[in-house]
Amino acid sequence: MQDRQRVVVKIGSSLLANAEHLTLRYAFMHGVMEDIARMREDGVDVVLTSSGSVAIGLSTIGKTPETAGLLDKQAAAACGQPLLMHAYKQIAQEYGFDIAQVLVTLEDLEDRRRFLNVKNTISRLLEHGILPIVNENDSVTTQEIKVGDNDRLAAKVAQMIQADEFVMLTSIDGLYDRNPDDPDAQHVPEVSDVSEYLEVTSQVSELGSGGMLTKMRAANMAQNAGVTTRIGEGLVDRPITAILSGERRHTRCVAIGDPDSSWRIWLTDRLVQVGGLVVGPDAAERLSAGRTAIGREDIVSVQGEFTKGDVLHIFDEAGEELARGMSNFTAAETLLLCRNPDQSPFDLLGYSAAARIISAENMAILKDHHLPWDAPEDDVIMVE
Ligand code: GLU
Repeated sequence: MQDRQRVVVKIGSSLLANAEHLTLRYAFMHGVMEDIARMREDGVDVVLTSSGSVAIGLSTIGKTPETAGLLDKQAAAACGQPLLMHAYKQIAQEYGFDIAQVLVTLEDLEDRRRFLNVKNTISRLLEHGILPIVNENDSVTTQEIKVGDNDRLAAKVAQMIQADEFVMLTSIDGLYDRNPDDPDAQHVPEVSDVSEYLEVTSQVSELGSGGMLTKMRAANMAQNAGVTTRIGEGLVDRPITAILSGERRHTRCVAIGDPDSSWRIWLTDRLVQVGGLVVGPDAAERLSAGRTAIGREDIVSVQGEFTKGDVLHIFDEAGEELARGMSNFTAAETLLLCRNPDQSPFDLLGYSAAARIISAENMAILKDHHLPWDAPEDDVIMVE
């Protein structure tokens, strides 16, 4: 357990970029950095996750959010990211500290080894007293292989560094029980079960990729890891510390009390679904009872072009997700093993291998506080 408090702060494009001119809002950035300086003086380690590269870079290439295609957005991110970091650096220097840029891709978070590399880099920056500023490396990622929203990316960072608090700053003072434009909408000060709010939170902000829905998903990832999330307004004085002290109204998504190990947290909270398995009734029963390995005889169908080391979503035949676990085999190998249960892995694959498709130590059973994913309909191959 680290002795200094750790806080991850996420700020979105709609706060950083002036919607009309797509230029940086320096006054806002000053407010945030001044608040971070205050927290640092109070002994808090802060990691900032900042969007804005695409929005800020669009004007450089003469595009708008409406006219930009995917390649334009990748180019815009390459133009905007240095502007963003330059501004942060200048402001941080006024407050006597330094910043560092940490750009990550989906694979850096979904692959365990790369995830640990990022974690080590961020930890070392914090040890040196530098503020890490994390963003997705948008110029090298395409729609299919990206996180897509910095809300969940920041929640991953909060899990990664075992933060105490996760603060998402946005253009509204938190969650409402219906569309906030509705005059009857009520502010929700505290959320335990985010699944109750998934339906009402489908509005997407204009400049960023997030909205309250992705914030709920992100808050769920944080709470699964024992991190409390606070969602509140950014364009105000002392935006972070006034939320953390409870002086300013916001929504607090309460952390669960007894989180799993960091390995199981990483296994459970996925950013994309690369593959899945449907298991028969015996295996489903075993998983529901908390007994965990998956053998070749358990599998009814295989979904997706997964590879060895990918984390799979495991469903029962009714489509209910039960668990997630890291595969010992590729999708093709899994099918071969399942279709020939009497032959040894060595005979089938040409190398000695574990007899289990997913080993017990690489499996995480979903609990009530996890948000399950839907069973995919495409790309499903029956074993028999
Ligand atoms: N990474 C994107 C950017 O910097 C933003 C993603 C988001 O809006 O959440 O522009």
